[in-house]
Amino acid sequence: MIPLISRNNMAGTPEPLAKLDKNALHPLEVAIFLDFDGTLADIAEDPAAVAVPRQTIEALARLEKITGGAVAIVTGRPISEIDYFLFPLNLPIAGVHGLERRGADGSMTSVPTDEKALEYVADHLERFRDRNEGIFIEHKQGSIALHYRKRPELESASKTAVHEAVNGHAGLHILNGKKVIEIKAGKATKADALKAFLKEHPFTGRIPLFAGDDVTDEDAFVAIAGDRGVSIKIGDGKTAAAYRADSTESFRSWLDSLAGMFERNN
Ligand SMILES: [Mg+2]
Repeated sequence: MIPLISRNNMAGTPEPLAKLDKNALHPLEVAIFLDFDGTLADIAEDPAAVAVPRQTIEALARLEKITGGAVAIVTGRPISEIDYFLFPLNLPIAGVHGLERRGADGSMTSVPTDEKALEYVADHLERFRDRNEGIFIEHKQGSIALHYRKRPELESASKTAVHEAVNGHAGLHILNGKKVIEIKAGKATKADALKAFLKEHPFTGRIPLFAGDDVTDEDAFVAIAGDRGVSIKIGDGKTAAAYRADSTESFRSWLDSLAGMFERNN
């Protein structure tokens, strides 16, 4: 029997992650879901320039082994990029905020998307980029991202450009992240991706643990609260999560210590 370790964060004040009793987690009874950028990898100006420390990749491999494969990445990036950054791991992954998903058995599922509407949006945003140096447009399957990290003062102009581009396309959804705005064709969210994983082996029947750093992770924090889930917010900002890690670095070392504890106790 697992003690109830999750708590309601009604007041919006998460507990420090150090207060989470790791001994209450059992490797064969927990399903670990992790965001990528800002959670495993430090945020970088250029999204292509991020790296995950070797020790963290090893911790993920150890956790994958000892949990019987119940470790998945849930990210805004395409699956192929995560495979590259986490090489040689080949974890279950939900990519593009749940538009594409690779299950633990390797099978791929994807949500149908309106590529024509996305093309229109891309044209509009590329014109905006051409007028504003430092703006970066990223094309993904099922989504377009506008990065303004190098021009933070253009936040409101970027939002206006995105709203103009999306106006009239009912199937498109806007997600505001950290210095990035994503336009997604299709309704999947990270919460949907978690729910889909939790219906499949080896995740099903386990207690979900989800860690993320961005506003796009909040719906998943809320979704798992009903399943006695353990939600962990990385870094500052208002959150529905029950626990908070101060930084990406401190969360990575917590993951490492979780792997060590699981190995000692089993
Ligand atoms: Mg993130």
